[in-house]
Amino acid sequence: MTGSILETVELRKQFGNLVANDGISLEIEEGEIHGIIGPNGSGKSTFFNTVTGFYDADGGDVIFDDRTITNDSPDKIARSGLGRTFQIASPFRDLTVRENLLSVYTAGLGSGLRVSEDKRHRAQDILGQLEIEHIAEHEASDISGGQQKLLELGRILMLDPKCIMLDEPTAGVNPALQNRILEHLRELNEEGRTFVIIEHDMSVISGLTDRVTVFNQGRVVMQGDFETVTSDERVREAYLGE
Ligand code: ADP
Ligand code: MG
Repeated sequence: MTGSILETVELRKQFGNLVANDGISLEIEEGEIHGIIGPNGSGKSTFFNTVTGFYDADGGDVIFDDRTITNDSPDKIARSGLGRTFQIASPFRDLTVRENLLSVYTAGLGSGLRVSEDKRHRAQDILGQLEIEHIAEHEASDISGGQQKLLELGRILMLDPKCIMLDEPTAGVNPALQNRILEHLRELNEEGRTFVIIEHDMSVISGLTDRVTVFNQGRVVMQGDFETVTSDERVREAYLGE
């Protein structure tokens, strides 16, 4: 038993000749907030997709919570306690916010399925915790982009994940809501949840993360705390364009 909750070993993903993840070995420690930075096209989203079963890996392994989950289905992985969001949030647009939370249990099982009282309570708690109770009965198509990001986080929380992977959680969100999202993430982290966060906004990375991994051209080029990583010559060249 190590202190890591999520580990990838030489994870590989190719699209034709393009090697998007070229042997990514990464250990995420239980309880940390781990940032992933790197230029556009460096393989960050592909990494999330391969880890969470949306893409089949071409090589390597993913170990979560002491079990190998490589190429398990996204659904199985989500239910095992590893949640994730997408770069673009995509709620069920004609369902309400509350129905979107409950749909985590009913999706794929046909409509009209009864949701237990327990799960309704859980949805209510999450609406309260994320401060979106006032829009609970609004259709998802009518809420703002930032609120959709909170809703997506809420959907993940319905499954009570130990670890959550967020792909650009504050991109395109207005500053006030952005700060609220960050506060919620800190709070959820204090509850013991581990986070892996892809983020371009360096102020978010610096204020939120315990450690940072830098991707470039499908590989890990550096890892460390924010100050160490961003003062490195190679990182400044590759990422900050200096
Ligand atoms: P990042 O998230 O770091 O911007 P991505 O992981 O999205 O980078 O992309 C890494 C590389 O893989 C890019 O060259 C991208 O065009 C390519 N890529 C990503 N997804 C696919 C896909 N589904 N099919 C083909 N190429 C892809
Ligand atoms: Mg991306």
